[in-house]
Amino acid sequence: MRVLVINSGSSSLKYQVRDTDTNEVAANGLIDRIGEGAGGPADHGEAMDQVAAALEDELAQRPLDAVGHRVVHGGERFSEPVLINNEITRSIERLNPLAPLHNPANVLGIRAIAAKWPHMPQVAVFDTAFHRTLPEHAWRYAIPDELYRQYGIRRYGFHGTSHQFVTGRAAELLGVPVHAFNAVVAHLGNGVSLTAIQGGASIDTSMGFTPLEGLVMGTRSGDVDPSILIFLQRQGMSAQDIDTMLNKESGLKALFGDNDMRAIVDAANAGNARATLALEIASYRLAKYIGGYHVAVGGAQALVFTAGIGENSADFRALVVSRLSALGVKLDGAANLVRSREPRVVSAPDSLIPVLVVPTDEEQAIAEATAAVVRGE
Ligand code: ADP
Repeated sequence: MRVLVINSGSSSLKYQVRDTDTNEVAANGLIDRIGEGAGGPADHGEAMDQVAAALEDELAQRPLDAVGHRVVHGGERFSEPVLINNEITRSIERLNPLAPLHNPANVLGIRAIAAKWPHMPQVAVFDTAFHRTLPEHAWRYAIPDELYRQYGIRRYGFHGTSHQFVTGRAAELLGVPVHAFNAVVAHLGNGVSLTAIQGGASIDTSMGFTPLEGLVMGTRSGDVDPSILIFLQRQGMSAQDIDTMLNKESGLKALFGDNDMRAIVDAANAGNARATLALEIASYRLAKYIGGYHVAVGGAQALVFTAGIGENSADFRALVVSRLSALGVKLDGAANLVRSREPRVVSAPDSLIPVLVVPTDEEQAIAEATAAVVRGE
């Protein structure tokens, strides 16, 4: 099948045309600076129109069979990929408040395609679905039950498509059947999440009700004392100001001034104290969570790094693993420096468990899930 995969970020839209039989990428592109003015697309609907225009020649030769969307928040309802209709789109739209950086973009993209190609099957692949196996002791917050029943306030987890894909590839690399595989998987991109894998399933994950919980991210704070938000509201900050502050002005951007890991590492190497502190905070927080998840899974068989920082930043991996000596985990200096698109082992031979770098491919996973839904599997 030929699937157009749409992966919308808050201000960007990545697209790929994938052939699920050959795994070939027939076309791909990125539209960024969406909604940032300067002649760029005003919103994700306009960006989708640009994608359709860019693909015109390609699709005239070989038409699409389906469109697959990465949808960030599936709430309580969606536990697997679904064929989209108007009712499903409205349901995704109702979840906008839970993922304010992402779900509105998905809805605009879905509607733009429905308007342009009314008969095209569209499938939503939810970032939350893989985490539906979380046990209640991991997903429930210690707040009144009423809030769960009335608003669905619970932990959902995100990056599920990536965690699932990477877990499968890591098990394969180690020659372990995935259903018998325990691991800790670190997805370190602009968004950051850690997942505890037991028997191939997600049993805990660092993002919660929204993608804001957990680790230090590019522009998101991760865990903070919730009383800070109440305090700030009493100082006169609006809910919108606090939302923007936590989602867009925090994390590495707040600590250093820039959320690009390369810039932070370069600055730290040049003696910039703020950059060094930003790296210390981010790696310290991540190492604490890794230790916790090692316990949660009853002893991980591997620690796995993926996504932009996890795959590419040897410096950040080294910083994190240097804090794990109590677990007997050690990198191999030379292996850690190797740059590759292949899954690989980067730990020392005497490391207690292997450390892996496994490139994620959310587009491949979404294309395969989309094809399966359209075939009715
Ligand atoms: P997103 O969550 O937006 O998909 P990515 O997975 O692409 O993010 O990761 C983005 C992050 O990866 C940025 O912090 C970027 O600096 C970092 N990154 C990308 N390439 C490299 C590299 N070669 N070295 C260090 N960091 C990198």
